[in-house]
Amino acid sequence: MTGGSRGIGRGIAEVFARAGARVLIAARDEAALAATAGHLRSAGGRVEHVAVDVSRPEGCARMAEVAVERLGGIDVLCANAGIFPEKPLAEMTEADLDLVLGVNLKGTVFAVTACLDALAASGRGRVVVTSSITGPITGFPGWSHYGASKAAQLGFVRTAAIELAPRRITVNAVLPGNVVTEGLTDLGEEYIAGMAAAIPLGRLGSVADIGNAALFLATEEAGYITGQTLVVDGGQVLPESLEALSTT
Ligand code: NAP
Repeated sequence: MTGGSRGIGRGIAEVFARAGARVLIAARDEAALAATAGHLRSAGGRVEHVAVDVSRPEGCARMAEVAVERLGGIDVLCANAGIFPEKPLAEMTEADLDLVLGVNLKGTVFAVTACLDALAASGRGRVVVTSSITGPITGFPGWSHYGASKAAQLGFVRTAAIELAPRRITVNAVLPGNVVTEGLTDLGEEYIAGMAAAIPLGRLGSVADIGNAALFLATEEAGYITGQTLVVDGGQVLPESLEALSTT
């Protein structure tokens, strides 16, 4: 899985490892990967790591090669690595756009293409892409390039699902709302409480909430679902206005 060293990716890796999967986590920072793999192994999982940049095709090719070598194949690819640097539209440069699309969109496509043959060889290949509510459903100032990349992932998912169906590979996406990760906890309790107030279920998501959704899409029981999106946001996108929340 890509982006497995921290945040949502680490949460997905933990859910899969606890369910008995052999997991390869990939990201750029070797030390962070080693620490996370060690933590997950201490919880009883079989976890390997590899340091690669998913925005480069050769990085994704290396990840696929290591997965096959060390774990014996690939049944599930979680394409989760993503970045979200803020940049107002008026200041956005071509480099800003290339950076975000390079990791979030191209990184997703490269990860899938690199793992294709191994996923097909598994006979029950699954791809689970981490998109977001931001872009496909909502918007947030400073994140126009990020939102575009997350919506673009869904366009990719829908056509990839058709193209890969004959090889018995399903391709789906989870769309997290606001999830508590290491980065968010730095913003403080008051800020987080303010965010939670806008969510009907009254709390932010946990990384395990996203991991559980990804695991569902990887199960035998979800084998007839492809090209779909699963919003995991505590109802965050539902209220038409603040009024809708204040009356509950
Ligand atoms: P995070 O905590 O910043 O983790 C991002 C992960 O991706 C890290 O493991 C990072 O490791 C890796 N990564 C970044 N650039 C990479 C690259 N070029 N090559 C390989 N790995 C790379 O972020 P997060 O909040 O968990 O977000 C994970 C995914 O969830 C993203 O796709 C994001 O769009 C989506 N999402 C997050 C939220 C949220 O509330 N947190 C909400 C909706 C969607 P290195 O930096 O070491 O490479």
